[in-house]
Amino acid sequence: MKAIVVGAGPAGLFCAYELAKAGISVEIFERGEEVDKRACPMKHTGYCVKCPECNFVHGVGGNGLYSDGKLNLDPEIGGNLLEFLSEHEAKKLIEQIDETFTKHGAHSKKTEKEDYAEMMVARAKANGVRFIPIQQRHMGSDRLPGIISSFVGEMKSLGVVFNTKTNVTDISVEVGKVNGVFVGEKKIEANYVVIGPGRGGAKWLSELCAKHGIKSRHQAIDIGVRVEVPAEIMNEATAICWDPKFHINTKTHDDLVRTFCTNPRGYVVTEHYPDYVCVNGHSLKGKRSENTNFAFLVRVELTHPVENTTEYGEAIARMATTIGGGKPTLQRLGDLKAGRRSTWERIEKSYVKPTLTEATPGDIAMGLPGRIVTDVLEGLEAMNRVIPGVYEDSTLLYSPEIKFHAHRVEVKKDMETSVAHLFTVGDGAGVSRGIVIAAATGMLAAHEIIRRTHNHNHPEQKNKTNEGGR
Ligand SMILES: Cc1cc2nc3c(=O)[nH]c(=O)nc-3n(C[C@H](O)[C@H](O)[C@H](O)COP(=O)(O)OP(=O)(O)OC[C@H]3O[C@@H](n4cnc5c(N)ncnc54)[C@H](O)[C@@H]3O)c2cc1C
Repeated sequence: MKAIVVGAGPAGLFCAYELAKAGISVEIFERGEEVDKRACPMKHTGYCVKCPECNFVHGVGGNGLYSDGKLNLDPEIGGNLLEFLSEHEAKKLIEQIDETFTKHGAHSKKTEKEDYAEMMVARAKANGVRFIPIQQRHMGSDRLPGIISSFVGEMKSLGVVFNTKTNVTDISVEVGKVNGVFVGEKKIEANYVVIGPGRGGAKWLSELCAKHGIKSRHQAIDIGVRVEVPAEIMNEATAICWDPKFHINTKTHDDLVRTFCTNPRGYVVTEHYPDYVCVNGHSLKGKRSENTNFAFLVRVELTHPVENTTEYGEAIARMATTIGGGKPTLQRLGDLKAGRRSTWERIEKSYVKPTLTEATPGDIAMGLPGRIVTDVLEGLEAMNRVIPGVYEDSTLLYSPEIKFHAHRVEVKKDMETSVAHLFTVGDGAGVSRGIVIAAATGMLAAHEIIRRTHNHNHPEQKNKTNEGGR
């Protein structure tokens, strides 16, 4: 019995780990490098797919290796595990993931102070805002490589074979069942294939879906800005929860706008794509800024006849990049409210100093759709009633921040696709948007493979027994 896992991000790693612990022979194929050989050749920080073989997105540890390392220990943050499991089962799985990270060096304390969380929930409710208190563990971008190296060491000692710098190009399907993968012309056989290619491999996976008739569909994306404020303004909320989640339904359009990926005393960074840029943020354990940043995103769903959210998001990203002269656009909130562009002179008057200076001061309303700009303004105004200070004129906005969520591959609760023995997991399959849920979906696939391998009552095993008896 052999399983192949494509992609060594959190989804692929946790899948292979479970399989190896159960004694199943497993090989990982990863198009990038080993942990200690990864770095962007152009020294980009943040998400980068611009360099032909950028090690930032690709490599052992996946996109998560240089991520902020916030483990959201909640089944409904970073995806929705409750689609596949009961709340009790989901929490148990998350506990296991947290224990594995802790065992390999994620020693920082979990956040969530219950009494304060209750007060914040009440204050938010009274102001038409939803505050979702969650438990988190923050590892820090600078600590993750060491944690993943240690994890990979344990996996290798369990017999997991890592094939790095190996790009899987196709899968082999016969009579509706997968039986291996292709690396170029070479076929490698396996009884089960689990694909976890992350955001960097989402396009390749959607091409595989089209080619092999694997059922999939478009899903919502998130479009907005990165907000930067003095750290003190967010202190109360980030003391309760490292990455506080506020959800607001806006007045004019009744759209959902939410905070995402908060980085207390962190830095805003640029994401480099082949023909546009976006922004993101991270915080480091060893280096702190004066500011806190968070994404402020509007959920955008498109329905018939135009459903391709990726194309729409990319068109916006290109427009915003054009108006930023190839860089993100930076604007003071006061300038946006007044309907004028920002300049460096105006930004210098502000008491918030930008942590990303490789940006063009300008007018984000020239690059983002009016509806998104209205949602951002109304959302921040509502949030200001819960977190006074976020709607101040000095607040900085960087644009565009877009979270592309991959095509959603149609999977059963165990992550098996419409092709038998083919499982798709993690961000690339559209079933997660964060480290923990990506890891959990990898584990779900592994558990089903283990069940089928060890359970002689499974129909496939029964058939085999019957065949043997004939
Ligand atoms: C700047 C930044 C900060 C973030 N911060 C956080 C955070 O604090 N907390 C959080 O929970 N999440 C965070 N995320 C998101 C998190 O990194 C992802 O959700 C997570 O890594 C997804 O895991 P995955 O295994 O699905 O995919 P990935 O981590 O993307 O891994 C997929 C792997 O598959 C490989 N691959 C792709 N195609 C192929 C192929 N054809 N053949 C072989 N290999 C292939 C890729 O090289 C890659 O290594 C952040 C992301 C970014 C960019």
